[in-house]
Amino acid sequence: MTTKYSAPRRISIPSTVTVRHLSDMTSVEAIDIIKQLMRNGVMATVNQVIDFETAAMAATDLGFAVVAQEAPADEPSSAAKPEFAEEDASQLVPKPPVVTILGHVDHGKTTLLDAIRQTNVVAQEAGGITQHIGAYQAEYNGNLITFLDTPGHEAFTAMRARGAQATDIAILVVAADDGVMPQTTEAINHAKAARVPIIAVINKVDRPSADIDRVKRQLAEHGLLPEDWGGDVITVPVSATKKTGIDELLENLLVLSEVQEFKANPNRAARGVVVEAQIDKSKGPTATVLVQQGTLRIGDSLVLGDTWGRVKALISASGKRVREATPATPVEVLGLDSVPEAGDIFDVVTNVQSAREQVAERRRQRDILRAASHALSLGELYSRIQSGELQELPLILKCDVQGSLDAVRNALDGVSSEKAQVRIIHSAAGTVTESDVLLATASKAIIVGFNTRVEPGARGLAEQERVEIRLYDIIYRLTDEIEQALQGLLQPEEHEVIDGHALVKTVFSVGRRGRIAGCQVADGVLTRGGKVRVIRSRRAVHTSSLNSLRRFKDNVREVSAGFECGVGVEGFTDFQEEDLLEAFHVEIR
Ligand code: GDP
Repeated sequence: MTTKYSAPRRISIPSTVTVRHLSDMTSVEAIDIIKQLMRNGVMATVNQVIDFETAAMAATDLGFAVVAQEAPADEPSSAAKPEFAEEDASQLVPKPPVVTILGHVDHGKTTLLDAIRQTNVVAQEAGGITQHIGAYQAEYNGNLITFLDTPGHEAFTAMRARGAQATDIAILVVAADDGVMPQTTEAINHAKAARVPIIAVINKVDRPSADIDRVKRQLAEHGLLPEDWGGDVITVPVSATKKTGIDELLENLLVLSEVQEFKANPNRAARGVVVEAQIDKSKGPTATVLVQQGTLRIGDSLVLGDTWGRVKALISASGKRVREATPATPVEVLGLDSVPEAGDIFDVVTNVQSAREQVAERRRQRDILRAASHALSLGELYSRIQSGELQELPLILKCDVQGSLDAVRNALDGVSSEKAQVRIIHSAAGTVTESDVLLATASKAIIVGFNTRVEPGARGLAEQERVEIRLYDIIYRLTDEIEQALQGLLQPEEHEVIDGHALVKTVFSVGRRGRIAGCQVADGVLTRGGKVRVIRSRRAVHTSSLNSLRRFKDNVREVSAGFECGVGVEGFTDFQEEDLLEAFHVEIR
């Protein structure tokens, strides 16, 4: 079509226009305009009135340069776009809750999502094919509930780390035969950090070894006191495979939703979050978005993260083409310039040109925001505490074993200053993972590791997101530094930089008591005199310096990745095969 009507003629379109009128203005046959509208997902007759956006989109596709004859008075401009917090209370109406399912692996998150989808999915309209678009809506007693289709707290927190809080309620799935497991605890902490209300689903109650009371006890131990035990956490026994308890769950979600009064303003420019995005062979770049405020319509121009688009079609989770999507409705959007990222915020703007301009502006703003909103470093803390901006220091604590976790927690309990105190938002035994870094980003927290190390992926992410990770192997140094930070005494900051890793392949004796580790450098570089940590089964067993480094018989200054070498570590002889040596240095910034 664009070739047939390629002359870039400029036309001026009013806020509403009939198809016939548009045909007159463009000298394009009405039937060709109707065909173009159909391609854009709009069914219209010759005498039908279409709005500016719809007409402009068709005209642009037919090769015309479009200007608005007169902008409707109430057309939202990006500058005037109200933020969520400024919503006019009189415009707010109840909206379906948006629910994410969290929990330990294999406790039945996916099975539960499928069970709800099969039993209560919104009735499928003729011609629609149920598709997985990253979210769906279930219906119970005439009320809608929106479910995000990617279970697990990693996705949940990754979205938060990008600035998007899509979830209203978290369902915590705990298998009744297995009880609260490490990822359950992690999920609880991630949901609590997001301040999202939690409903606990006790799943697999059909199993003979199911023990509902034990799960409730464990939940209570984690600060989630069940309602029937006098607390405020709703617990629902469910069998996702037998599909029992699903109605009770949906009913409870609606009750909680009513109590929480989730509301939105459908009468404004749409805004929301990208849930999923991909390139489709026939549809081009598409994204599933969740509208959070306003109503998204065909023809809307929008900015999504670093990209923009003009809505050519909207497809619901039941596969039906729809004209609009109201708050809490997930829809697949066609007509994007490129693929946005999950967690990107989208906004509807006045027109495509404005969308393009705003993408440029957004990129600039995002950089500024990134720089300004990264997790706090200990060194930056004092001024914020002094100014009263901060009353607590959020920490994520990772230790080698449960025993040291308890010891460090106890030690930190006594640490506070007049103006601020420590708040541990998540603690667990194990290495520092990407999920910890995401939680730190989303919660502006610092990660403290005791006798543990940082997963390589987590280190990269921490550097990118500028999350501070501080590692210790002596408790009092850890508590001292945190205390000093709270009192503003900690200066300057020390940053640990990893230089490389080597794997111990064999151990040999030298002299009477000396022992040398025969290693292969796995990544980076080992340097004689540099700091080194001996890691065994993921925990640091010794930290000192690398006091001898040899290649064959020669003393060398450094050895790079891929080469073998003999390594002596100051004050340490107890090497074992498979130990990992981590070379690092400390930078003062
Ligand atoms: P996810 O990792 O949390 O998403 O767990 P899945 O949904 O993949 O479920 C893990 C396993 O538990 C699968 O083999 C399921 O069939 C099984 N499962 C899930 N829910 C139930 C249930 O209610 N009862 C029983 N007996 N098995 C279940």
